[in-house]
Amino acid sequence: MFDTVTSDAFQQLRQRAAEVSRYGAAAGLLGWDQETYMPPKGQAARTRQLSALAELIHRLSTGPEVGEWLTQAEADMEAQGWDPDSDAARFLKVARRDYDRATRVPTEWVVEFSRLTSEAKMHWQQARAQKDFRLFAPYLRRIVEMRRQYAEFFAPYDHIYDPLLDGFEPGMKTATVQALFAGLRREQVALLHAILERPQVDDAFLYRPFPVARQKTFVREVLEHMGFDFQRGRLDESAHPFTTGFSVDDVRLTTRYKETDFFGQAFYSSLHEMGHGLYGQGVDPRYEETPLAGGASLGVHESQSRLWENLVGRSRSYLQWLLPRLRDAFPGVLDDVDLDAFYRGVNKVQPSLIRTEADEVTYNLHIMLRMDLEIALLEGRVDVDDLPEVWNRRMEEDLGVRPKDDAEGVLQDIHWAMGALGYFPTYALGNVMSAQIWQALRRDIPDVEAQMQAGRFADLLAWLREHIHRYGRKFEPLEVLQKATGQELQSQPYLDYLRTKYGEIYGL
Ligand code: ZN
Repeated sequence: MFDTVTSDAFQQLRQRAAEVSRYGAAAGLLGWDQETYMPPKGQAARTRQLSALAELIHRLSTGPEVGEWLTQAEADMEAQGWDPDSDAARFLKVARRDYDRATRVPTEWVVEFSRLTSEAKMHWQQARAQKDFRLFAPYLRRIVEMRRQYAEFFAPYDHIYDPLLDGFEPGMKTATVQALFAGLRREQVALLHAILERPQVDDAFLYRPFPVARQKTFVREVLEHMGFDFQRGRLDESAHPFTTGFSVDDVRLTTRYKETDFFGQAFYSSLHEMGHGLYGQGVDPRYEETPLAGGASLGVHESQSRLWENLVGRSRSYLQWLLPRLRDAFPGVLDDVDLDAFYRGVNKVQPSLIRTEADEVTYNLHIMLRMDLEIALLEGRVDVDDLPEVWNRRMEEDLGVRPKDDAEGVLQDIHWAMGALGYFPTYALGNVMSAQIWQALRRDIPDVEAQMQAGRFADLLAWLREHIHRYGRKFEPLEVLQKATGQELQSQPYLDYLRTKYGEIYGL
């Protein structure tokens, strides 16, 4: 489709984007291998290989010639009157955005920040092992300082957090997210407190032994059945599950297996990663090797993973299809568990200290805490040294649990050590969007529940392809959401979903 664009500058940009994308894919593959199959002693060489590629990619993406091509192509667009929503115009818009973001930040800053975060990661690991935040504090202090400098490269801004957030969620404003989260927090805390008054559900059967070899076959069969294309993707193992991809035709998922925690470790994390993977496999193949390849944002990506993991995977209709298959695959293990008990078990609400183990009702509260602390640090309202105490107090306030040490509190996530301030909100935004998208999808496919009960997922996937996946990065997150749902970002559908589902489970 881009062949017909009559602008030499555009064609130059396109060629460069393809080149950058190929080196990016090579780096991605090295990174994937690092987490899956690389022998431990390969680390030092791998770091050199990755940084050589990163440097090459940076040079090819930020060279002055790219800026000249962009300016010329934009002039051609103007002169020829391209439709602003055409693929070519959007290609230019995204390429311009990427270029400006990459070139506003001085190379010296990038080099120093990368040195700082690789040191910070080491010290974070040590601090976490010794459960002592003080070992990590000086590095975090420096990361916050450098992130303040970073925000200044994008001045003027409405809020110092905007340039950071925008790096993960293009076009999203801090004020929008804060307003959304304020209502969400109030309502989710109220719902949680109501649930905690009620008798707890039993989920002990989820931790019975499920032989790992059979887990592997089962997960693969389920993913394949639900629409993940193993001719264009893989499922491997890693310490922390993730998804990556080097093309729409090569999307890699990972998971992990533990005999006595099949659902917590392998099953639901695989559904989650599959949601990311289906998005990756669903982008318009004509966007390959252009700036429009990939997902709209981390938030939109997370809306897909959470939709498959929770809205589908933890629904009664889906479990009605799944449970007999589980019984066949693991004879005897779940014979005494009926659908109702199984549904309640996989949806158990239990305030916990660790974000990655949180249920649907408490998950966003972990995120809001992190975002509020990031903002407070950037604004200088909270000092790094006081962070553990502020963290613990807020955990008690919202979730009623208090970490006994820093490892299960402020040190649990790697994001800050990586310098990734502004990242966390995307998880909660994904949850909120997933419910909006689900609502729109159910309007268009009124019998989706019956389809899931029958193990039919093709219409569901086709709808997501049509309304979200195929656009890749062409539209900004809020545009994608608007197109798919006809709505602005709003928390009501998510709150309605939680209240209905958990009201029924806990008899509220
Ligand atoms: Zn995810």
